[in-house]
Amino acid sequence: MAASFSFDPTKYYRLPWSLTDNGISWLEVTTRCNLTCKGCYRDQSKEGHKSLKEIEEDLAVFKKERKSDCMSIAGGDPLVHPKIVEIVRMIKEGGWKPIVNTNGLALSKNLLQKLKEAGVFGFTFHVDTSQVRKDTNAKCEVELNNLRHKFAQMLGDVGGISCSFNQTVTGETLDQVSEVVRWSQQYPDIVHAVVFILFREPALMGNYDYYAQGKKINMNSTYSHTEFAGRRLLKSADVVNKIREQDPDFEPSAYLGGTVDPHSAKWLIGVRVGSRSKTYGYITPRFMELVQDGYHVMYNRWLSYSSPSFLRLGRSSALTFATFDKGMRSIARNYVRDCVKKPSTLLQPAYFQTFTIIQPIDLLSDGQANMCDGCPDMTVYKGKMYWSCRLEEIKEYGSFVSCVPRTNLKHIEPKATVRKQEQLPASP
Ligand code: SF4
Repeated sequence: MAASFSFDPTKYYRLPWSLTDNGISWLEVTTRCNLTCKGCYRDQSKEGHKSLKEIEEDLAVFKKERKSDCMSIAGGDPLVHPKIVEIVRMIKEGGWKPIVNTNGLALSKNLLQKLKEAGVFGFTFHVDTSQVRKDTNAKCEVELNNLRHKFAQMLGDVGGISCSFNQTVTGETLDQVSEVVRWSQQYPDIVHAVVFILFREPALMGNYDYYAQGKKINMNSTYSHTEFAGRRLLKSADVVNKIREQDPDFEPSAYLGGTVDPHSAKWLIGVRVGSRSKTYGYITPRFMELVQDGYHVMYNRWLSYSSPSFLRLGRSSALTFATFDKGMRSIARNYVRDCVKKPSTLLQPAYFQTFTIIQPIDLLSDGQANMCDGCPDMTVYKGKMYWSCRLEEIKEYGSFVSCVPRTNLKHIEPKATVRKQEQLPASP
Protein backbone atom coordinates (compact mmCIF):
# COMPACT_ATOMS: atom_id res chain seq x y z
CA MET A 1 0.00 0.00 0.00
CA ALA A 2 1.32 3.46 -0.92
CA ALA A 3 2.32 5.87 1.84
CA SER A 4 -0.22 8.54 2.77
CA PHE A 5 0.69 11.81 1.08
CA SER A 6 1.69 14.86 3.03
CA PHE A 7 2.64 17.97 1.04
CA ASP A 8 6.16 19.27 1.67
CA PRO A 9 6.85 22.25 -0.66
CA THR A 10 10.61 21.90 -0.21
CA LYS A 11 10.50 18.57 -2.08
CA TYR A 12 8.86 19.85 -5.26
CA TYR A 13 9.50 22.41 -7.98
CA ARG A 14 7.54 25.61 -7.43
CA LEU A 15 6.35 26.62 -10.90
CA PRO A 16 7.73 30.10 -11.55
CA TRP A 17 4.37 31.35 -12.82
CA SER A 18 3.36 34.83 -11.75
CA LEU A 19 0.79 37.52 -12.44
CA THR A 20 2.81 38.97 -15.31
CA ASP A 21 4.49 35.85 -16.73
CA ASN A 22 2.41 32.69 -16.69
CA GLY A 23 1.76 29.45 -18.51
CA ILE A 24 -1.90 30.26 -19.00
CA SER A 25 -4.43 33.08 -19.19
CA TRP A 26 -8.20 32.74 -19.10
CA LEU A 27 -10.47 34.43 -21.62
CA GLU A 28 -14.23 34.26 -21.11
CA VAL A 29 -16.03 34.71 -24.41
CA THR A 30 -19.61 34.07 -23.28
CA THR A 31 -21.69 33.43 -20.18
CA ARG A 32 -24.04 31.16 -22.16
CA CYS A 33 -23.91 27.40 -21.88
CA ASN A 34 -25.82 24.40 -23.20
CA LEU A 35 -25.68 22.63 -19.82
CA THR A 36 -26.48 23.48 -16.24
CA CYS A 37 -23.81 22.18 -13.89
CA LYS A 38 -24.37 22.01 -10.16
CA GLY A 39 -22.16 24.68 -8.71
CA CYS A 40 -21.36 26.61 -11.92
CA TYR A 41 -20.43 30.11 -10.84
CA ARG A 42 -21.48 32.04 -13.97
CA ASP A 43 -24.93 33.54 -14.29
CA GLN A 44 -26.06 32.51 -17.80
CA SER A 45 -28.88 35.05 -17.87
CA LYS A 46 -26.44 37.98 -17.77
CA GLU A 47 -24.23 39.43 -20.51
CA GLY A 48 -24.31 36.59 -23.08
CA HIS A 49 -21.78 36.41 -25.94
CA LYS A 50 -18.96 38.95 -26.14
CA SER A 51 -18.52 40.64 -29.52
CA LEU A 52 -15.28 40.11 -31.46
CA LYS A 53 -14.39 43.72 -30.63
CA GLU A 54 -14.82 43.09 -26.89
CA ILE A 55 -12.70 39.95 -27.16
CA GLU A 56 -10.04 41.90 -29.05
CA GLU A 57 -10.03 44.45 -26.21
CA ASP A 58 -9.65 41.71 -23.57
CA LEU A 59 -6.76 40.20 -25.54
CA ALA A 60 -5.11 43.63 -25.74
CA VAL A 61 -5.21 43.84 -21.92
CA PHE A 62 -3.56 40.41 -21.65
CA LYS A 63 -0.94 41.43 -24.22
CA LYS A 64 -0.07 44.50 -22.20
CA GLU A 65 -0.21 43.01 -18.71
CA ARG A 66 0.88 39.40 -18.95
CA LYS A 67 2.99 37.01 -21.00
CA SER A 68 1.41 33.59 -21.37
CA ASP A 69 1.87 30.47 -23.42
CA CYS A 70 -1.76 29.39 -23.68
CA MET A 71 -5.06 31.20 -23.81
CA SER A 72 -7.84 29.17 -22.25
CA ILE A 73 -11.07 29.99 -24.02
CA ALA A 74 -13.81 29.63 -21.45
CA GLY A 75 -17.33 30.72 -20.58
CA GLY A 76 -20.09 29.52 -20.29
CA ASP A 77 -19.29 27.11 -23.04
CA PRO A 78 -17.20 28.75 -25.78
CA LEU A 79 -18.47 26.34 -28.46
CA VAL A 80 -21.93 27.94 -28.27
CA HIS A 81 -20.40 31.28 -29.31
CA PRO A 82 -21.31 31.72 -33.01
CA LYS A 83 -17.85 33.21 -33.76
CA ILE A 84 -15.77 30.56 -32.00
CA VAL A 85 -13.73 29.74 -35.12
CA GLU A 86 -12.82 33.43 -35.61
CA ILE A 87 -11.98 33.71 -31.89
CA VAL A 88 -9.59 30.76 -32.08
CA ARG A 89 -7.95 32.26 -35.17
CA MET A 90 -7.60 35.64 -33.45
CA ILE A 91 -5.88 34.04 -30.44
CA LYS A 92 -3.54 32.01 -32.60
CA GLU A 93 -2.60 35.10 -34.61
CA GLY A 94 -2.01 36.93 -31.32
CA GLY A 95 0.75 34.42 -30.51
CA TRP A 96 -1.02 32.25 -27.90
CA LYS A 97 -1.90 28.55 -28.02
CA PRO A 98 -5.72 28.48 -28.14
CA ILE A 99 -7.20 25.96 -25.69
CA VAL A 100 -10.96 25.41 -25.83
CA ASN A 101 -12.56 24.61 -22.46
CA THR A 102 -15.83 22.92 -23.18
CA ASN A 103 -18.31 20.33 -22.02
CA GLY A 104 -17.99 18.95 -25.59
CA LEU A 105 -21.72 18.85 -26.25
CA ALA A 106 -21.55 21.19 -29.23
CA LEU A 107 -18.43 19.63 -30.76
CA SER A 108 -19.13 18.06 -34.16
CA LYS A 109 -16.53 16.60 -36.53
CA ASN A 110 -17.13 19.48 -38.88
CA LEU A 111 -16.59 22.13 -36.18
CA LEU A 112 -13.49 20.31 -34.94
CA GLN A 113 -11.99 20.41 -38.42
CA LYS A 114 -12.69 24.14 -38.72
CA LEU A 115 -11.18 24.81 -35.30
CA LYS A 116 -8.09 22.85 -36.26
CA GLU A 117 -7.70 24.88 -39.44
CA ALA A 118 -8.08 28.05 -37.34
CA GLY A 119 -5.16 26.89 -35.16
CA VAL A 120 -6.70 25.31 -32.05
CA PHE A 121 -3.93 23.80 -29.90
CA GLY A 122 -5.98 21.81 -27.46
CA PHE A 123 -9.22 21.03 -25.73
CA THR A 124 -10.02 20.63 -22.08
CA PHE A 125 -13.27 18.74 -21.74
CA HIS A 126 -15.27 19.23 -18.59
CA VAL A 127 -17.07 15.93 -18.04
CA ASP A 128 -18.36 14.88 -14.65
CA THR A 129 -21.40 13.97 -12.62
CA SER A 130 -21.99 17.58 -11.56
CA GLN A 131 -23.56 17.98 -15.01
CA VAL A 132 -26.99 16.99 -16.19
CA ARG A 133 -25.90 15.88 -19.67
CA LYS A 134 -28.08 15.15 -22.66
CA ASP A 135 -25.49 12.95 -24.37
CA THR A 136 -25.19 10.17 -21.78
CA ASN A 137 -27.15 8.26 -19.16
CA ALA A 138 -24.02 7.68 -17.07
CA LYS A 139 -24.73 7.79 -13.35
CA CYS A 140 -21.19 7.89 -11.99
CA GLU A 141 -17.69 9.01 -12.97
CA VAL A 142 -16.70 5.50 -14.00
CA GLU A 143 -19.60 5.26 -16.48
CA LEU A 144 -18.61 8.67 -17.85
CA ASN A 145 -15.31 7.22 -19.03
CA ASN A 146 -17.10 6.05 -22.21
CA LEU A 147 -18.04 9.61 -23.05
CA ARG A 148 -14.54 10.84 -22.22
CA HIS A 149 -13.17 8.18 -24.51
CA LYS A 150 -15.47 9.33 -27.33
CA PHE A 151 -14.08 12.89 -27.14
CA ALA A 152 -10.46 11.70 -26.85
CA GLN A 153 -10.89 9.45 -29.88
CA MET A 154 -12.51 12.26 -31.88
CA LEU A 155 -9.43 14.42 -31.31
CA GLY A 156 -7.10 11.47 -31.81
CA ASP A 157 -8.65 10.76 -35.23
CA VAL A 158 -7.97 14.32 -36.36
CA GLY A 159 -4.49 14.27 -34.79
CA GLY A 160 -2.10 16.92 -33.53
CA ILE A 161 -4.47 18.34 -30.89
CA SER A 162 -3.86 18.20 -27.16
CA CYS A 163 -6.64 16.49 -25.20
CA SER A 164 -7.30 17.07 -21.49
CA PHE A 165 -10.18 16.34 -19.16
CA ASN A 166 -11.21 18.09 -16.04
CA GLN A 167 -13.47 16.82 -13.37
CA THR A 168 -14.90 18.26 -10.20
CA VAL A 169 -14.17 16.09 -7.17
CA THR A 170 -16.38 16.09 -4.11
CA GLY A 171 -16.64 13.99 -0.98
CA GLU A 172 -19.23 11.99 -2.93
CA THR A 173 -17.06 11.30 -5.98
CA LEU A 174 -13.59 11.06 -4.41
CA ASP A 175 -13.70 7.26 -4.36
CA GLN A 176 -14.12 7.20 -8.16
CA VAL A 177 -10.91 9.14 -8.85
CA SER A 178 -8.81 5.99 -9.02
CA GLU A 179 -11.08 4.48 -11.70
CA VAL A 180 -10.78 7.61 -13.86
CA VAL A 181 -7.00 7.41 -13.46
CA ARG A 182 -7.03 3.72 -14.38
CA TRP A 183 -9.04 4.46 -17.51
CA SER A 184 -6.87 7.40 -18.59
CA GLN A 185 -3.63 5.45 -18.11
CA GLN A 186 -4.81 2.97 -20.74
CA TYR A 187 -4.88 5.76 -23.36
CA PRO A 188 -1.85 8.04 -22.86
CA ASP A 189 -1.64 8.42 -26.65
CA ILE A 190 -4.99 10.25 -26.81
CA VAL A 191 -5.63 11.36 -23.21
CA HIS A 192 -2.82 13.79 -22.47
CA ALA A 193 -3.92 15.27 -19.16
CA VAL A 194 -6.51 14.81 -16.44
CA VAL A 195 -7.29 17.55 -13.95
CA PHE A 196 -9.10 17.02 -10.67
CA ILE A 197 -10.63 20.19 -9.26
CA LEU A 198 -11.79 20.09 -5.68
CA PHE A 199 -15.30 21.33 -5.10
CA ARG A 200 -15.59 23.83 -2.29
CA GLU A 201 -18.45 23.36 0.09
CA PRO A 202 -20.56 26.50 0.33
CA ALA A 203 -22.61 25.08 3.20
CA LEU A 204 -19.61 25.66 5.45
CA MET A 205 -19.89 29.40 4.92
CA GLY A 206 -21.96 29.87 8.06
CA ASN A 207 -18.85 30.62 10.13
CA TYR A 208 -18.33 34.07 8.63
CA ASP A 209 -19.94 37.43 7.96
CA TYR A 210 -19.30 38.88 4.52
CA TYR A 211 -18.65 42.49 3.52
CA ALA A 212 -18.25 44.28 0.20
CA GLN A 213 -17.60 48.00 -0.21
CA GLY A 214 -18.06 48.43 3.55
CA LYS A 215 -21.53 46.83 3.60
CA LYS A 216 -22.59 43.50 5.04
CA ILE A 217 -23.87 41.19 2.32
CA ASN A 218 -25.60 37.85 1.98
CA MET A 219 -23.17 35.58 0.12
CA ASN A 220 -25.74 32.86 -0.37
CA SER A 221 -27.12 34.78 -3.34
CA THR A 222 -23.70 34.45 -5.05
CA TYR A 223 -22.73 30.98 -3.87
CA SER A 224 -25.78 28.83 -3.39
CA HIS A 225 -25.89 25.70 -1.29
CA THR A 226 -25.84 22.36 -3.01
CA GLU A 227 -26.29 18.78 -2.00
CA PHE A 228 -23.79 17.72 -4.60
CA ALA A 229 -20.64 18.41 -2.63
CA GLY A 230 -21.30 16.27 0.39
CA ARG A 231 -20.20 17.44 3.82
CA ARG A 232 -16.54 16.62 3.56
CA LEU A 233 -14.07 19.33 2.64
CA LEU A 234 -11.29 17.91 0.49
CA LYS A 235 -7.62 18.78 0.17
CA SER A 236 -5.18 17.96 -2.63
CA ALA A 237 -3.66 15.22 -0.48
CA ASP A 238 -7.00 13.33 -0.52
CA VAL A 239 -6.84 13.10 -4.31
CA VAL A 240 -3.15 12.12 -4.30
CA ASN A 241 -4.02 9.26 -1.95
CA LYS A 242 -6.86 8.17 -4.23
CA ILE A 243 -4.63 8.24 -7.31
CA ARG A 244 -2.09 6.16 -5.42
CA GLU A 245 -4.70 3.48 -4.80
CA GLN A 246 -4.62 2.91 -8.54
CA ASP A 247 -0.98 3.86 -9.12
CA PRO A 248 1.20 3.61 -5.98
CA ASP A 249 4.10 5.24 -7.86
CA PHE A 250 2.21 8.49 -8.43
CA GLU A 251 4.47 11.35 -7.39
CA PRO A 252 3.99 15.07 -8.09
CA SER A 253 6.90 17.09 -9.41
CA ALA A 254 5.62 20.68 -9.40
CA TYR A 255 3.18 22.90 -7.56
CA LEU A 256 1.74 26.32 -6.97
CA GLY A 257 1.34 27.22 -3.30
CA GLY A 258 -1.16 29.49 -1.63
CA THR A 259 -1.01 33.29 -1.44
CA VAL A 260 -1.43 33.16 2.34
CA ASP A 261 -0.34 29.64 3.20
CA PRO A 262 2.71 28.58 1.14
CA HIS A 263 2.36 25.08 2.56
CA SER A 264 -0.97 24.50 0.84
CA ALA A 265 -0.81 22.61 -2.47
CA LYS A 266 -3.10 24.70 -4.65
CA TRP A 267 -1.91 23.21 -7.95
CA LEU A 268 -0.13 19.90 -7.73
CA ILE A 269 1.21 18.34 -10.91
CA GLY A 270 2.51 14.84 -11.55
CA VAL A 271 3.70 13.74 -14.98
CA ARG A 272 3.67 10.03 -15.74
CA VAL A 273 5.95 8.35 -18.24
CA GLY A 274 4.20 5.26 -19.51
CA SER A 275 2.59 3.25 -22.24
CA ARG A 276 -0.94 1.91 -22.57
CA SER A 277 -0.04 -1.01 -20.35
CA LYS A 278 2.76 0.13 -18.08
CA THR A 279 3.85 3.06 -15.91
CA TYR A 280 7.63 3.52 -15.94
CA GLY A 281 7.63 6.33 -13.38
CA TYR A 282 6.92 10.01 -12.77
CA ILE A 283 9.18 12.82 -13.88
CA THR A 284 11.28 14.53 -11.22
CA PRO A 285 11.10 18.14 -9.99
CA ARG A 286 14.51 18.71 -11.59
CA PHE A 287 13.34 17.51 -14.99
CA MET A 288 10.24 19.70 -14.74
CA GLU A 289 12.47 22.68 -13.91
CA LEU A 290 14.70 21.93 -16.86
CA VAL A 291 11.73 21.77 -19.25
CA GLN A 292 10.21 25.00 -17.92
CA ASP A 293 13.53 26.88 -17.96
CA GLY A 294 14.51 25.56 -21.38
CA TYR A 295 11.16 26.58 -22.84
CA HIS A 296 11.39 30.04 -21.27
CA VAL A 297 14.88 30.57 -22.64
CA MET A 298 13.70 29.54 -26.11
CA TYR A 299 10.25 31.15 -26.26
CA ASN A 300 10.28 33.75 -23.47
CA ARG A 301 7.27 32.25 -21.70
CA TRP A 302 6.49 29.39 -19.34
CA LEU A 303 5.23 26.16 -20.84
CA SER A 304 1.74 24.93 -20.12
CA TYR A 305 0.07 22.61 -22.64
CA SER A 306 2.40 20.47 -24.79
CA SER A 307 1.80 19.11 -28.26
CA PRO A 308 1.00 15.41 -28.78
CA SER A 309 4.26 15.03 -30.72
CA PHE A 310 6.28 16.29 -27.71
CA LEU A 311 4.28 14.06 -25.36
CA ARG A 312 5.50 10.98 -27.26
CA LEU A 313 9.07 11.68 -26.15
CA GLY A 314 8.85 10.06 -22.70
CA ARG A 315 11.23 7.25 -23.60
CA SER A 316 13.98 9.36 -25.20
CA SER A 317 13.74 12.00 -22.45
CA ALA A 318 14.15 9.41 -19.70
CA LEU A 319 17.08 7.78 -21.51
CA THR A 320 18.76 11.13 -22.24
CA PHE A 321 18.39 12.51 -18.72
CA ALA A 322 19.22 9.23 -16.99
CA THR A 323 22.86 10.32 -16.77
CA PHE A 324 22.08 13.51 -14.82
CA ASP A 325 19.06 12.64 -12.73
CA LYS A 326 18.48 9.68 -10.42
CA GLY A 327 14.69 9.77 -10.78
CA MET A 328 14.82 9.85 -14.57
CA ARG A 329 17.38 7.02 -14.41
CA SER A 330 14.86 4.92 -12.53
CA ILE A 331 12.27 5.56 -15.27
CA ALA A 332 14.83 4.58 -17.93
CA ARG A 333 15.73 1.44 -15.97
CA ASN A 334 12.10 0.38 -15.71
CA TYR A 335 11.68 0.93 -19.43
CA VAL A 336 14.78 -1.12 -20.32
CA ARG A 337 13.68 -3.94 -18.00
CA ASP A 338 10.31 -3.99 -19.72
CA CYS A 339 12.02 -4.19 -23.13
CA VAL A 340 14.13 -7.14 -21.97
CA LYS A 341 11.01 -8.94 -20.73
CA LYS A 342 8.93 -7.99 -23.75
CA PRO A 343 10.98 -6.89 -26.79
CA SER A 344 7.86 -5.61 -28.61
CA THR A 345 7.93 -2.71 -26.08
CA LEU A 346 10.72 -1.23 -28.21
CA LEU A 347 8.19 -0.56 -30.95
CA GLN A 348 5.88 1.41 -28.68
CA PRO A 349 6.40 4.99 -27.54
CA ALA A 350 6.36 5.94 -23.86
CA TYR A 351 4.21 9.00 -23.34
CA PHE A 352 4.16 11.90 -20.92
CA GLN A 353 0.75 12.12 -19.31
CA THR A 354 -0.13 14.80 -16.77
CA PHE A 355 -2.29 14.56 -13.66
CA THR A 356 -3.10 17.86 -11.98
CA ILE A 357 -4.99 18.54 -8.77
CA ILE A 358 -6.39 21.99 -8.12
CA GLN A 359 -7.42 23.06 -4.64
CA PRO A 360 -9.15 26.40 -5.18
CA ILE A 361 -9.72 29.15 -2.64
CA ASP A 362 -9.47 28.16 1.01
CA LEU A 363 -11.05 30.51 3.47
CA LEU A 364 -8.82 30.49 6.54
CA SER A 365 -9.94 30.74 10.14
CA ASP A 366 -9.02 34.43 10.38
CA GLY A 367 -11.06 35.26 7.26
CA GLN A 368 -8.14 35.48 4.82
CA ALA A 369 -8.68 33.95 1.37
CA ASN A 370 -5.85 31.61 0.43
CA MET A 371 -5.70 31.82 -3.39
CA CYS A 372 -3.43 30.07 -5.88
CA ASP A 373 -0.11 31.92 -5.82
CA GLY A 374 0.67 32.69 -9.47
CA CYS A 375 -2.94 32.07 -10.56
CA PRO A 376 -2.95 30.74 -14.13
CA ASP A 377 -6.66 31.47 -14.59
CA MET A 378 -6.64 35.25 -14.35
CA THR A 379 -9.29 36.76 -16.56
CA VAL A 380 -10.05 40.24 -17.87
CA TYR A 381 -13.21 42.11 -16.93
CA LYS A 382 -13.78 45.74 -17.92
CA GLY A 383 -10.09 46.24 -18.69
CA LYS A 384 -8.68 44.72 -15.48
CA MET A 385 -7.44 41.29 -14.46
CA TYR A 386 -9.19 39.26 -11.76
CA TRP A 387 -9.18 35.70 -10.42
CA SER A 388 -11.73 34.03 -12.69
CA CYS A 389 -13.02 31.93 -9.79
CA ARG A 390 -14.19 35.06 -7.99
CA LEU A 391 -15.30 37.26 -10.88
CA GLU A 392 -18.93 36.92 -9.82
CA GLU A 393 -18.09 38.94 -6.69
CA ILE A 394 -16.76 41.79 -8.84
CA LYS A 395 -19.80 41.63 -11.10
CA GLU A 396 -22.24 41.60 -8.20
CA TYR A 397 -20.61 43.87 -5.63
CA GLY A 398 -17.95 45.82 -7.56
CA SER A 399 -15.21 44.43 -5.30
CA PHE A 400 -14.01 41.19 -3.82
CA VAL A 401 -15.82 40.13 -0.69
CA SER A 402 -14.09 40.25 2.72
CA CYS A 403 -14.86 37.63 5.35
CA VAL A 404 -14.96 38.19 9.08
CA PRO A 405 -15.11 35.18 11.40
CA ARG A 406 -18.25 35.18 13.57
CA THR A 407 -16.78 33.46 16.58
CA ASN A 408 -13.52 33.48 18.45
CA LEU A 409 -10.78 32.39 16.03
CA LYS A 410 -9.59 29.51 18.13
CA HIS A 411 -12.98 27.84 17.79
CA ILE A 412 -12.86 27.79 14.01
CA GLU A 413 -10.99 25.16 12.09
CA PRO A 414 -9.36 26.43 8.85
CA LYS A 415 -11.89 24.62 6.78
CA ALA A 416 -14.57 26.81 5.28
CA THR A 417 -14.40 28.05 1.77
CA VAL A 418 -16.61 29.91 -0.64
CA ARG A 419 -15.54 29.01 -4.08
CA LYS A 420 -17.73 27.14 -6.47
CA GLN A 421 -16.56 24.63 -9.02
CA GLU A 422 -14.34 25.96 -11.74
CA GLN A 423 -14.52 24.71 -15.26
CA LEU A 424 -10.93 24.72 -16.19
CA PRO A 425 -7.28 23.77 -15.54
CA ALA A 426 -4.07 23.15 -17.31
CA SER A 427 -1.43 20.58 -17.97
CA PRO A 428 2.15 21.67 -17.83
S1 SF4 B 1 -8.94 31.20 -10.73
FE1 SF4 B 1 -8.97 30.74 -8.53
S2 SF4 B 1 -8.89 28.51 -8.40
FE2 SF4 B 1 -8.33 29.05 -10.50
S3 SF4 B 1 -6.11 29.13 -10.41
FE3 SF4 B 1 -6.85 31.21 -10.01
S4 SF4 B 1 -6.96 31.43 -7.81
FE4 SF4 B 1 -6.82 29.23 -8.28
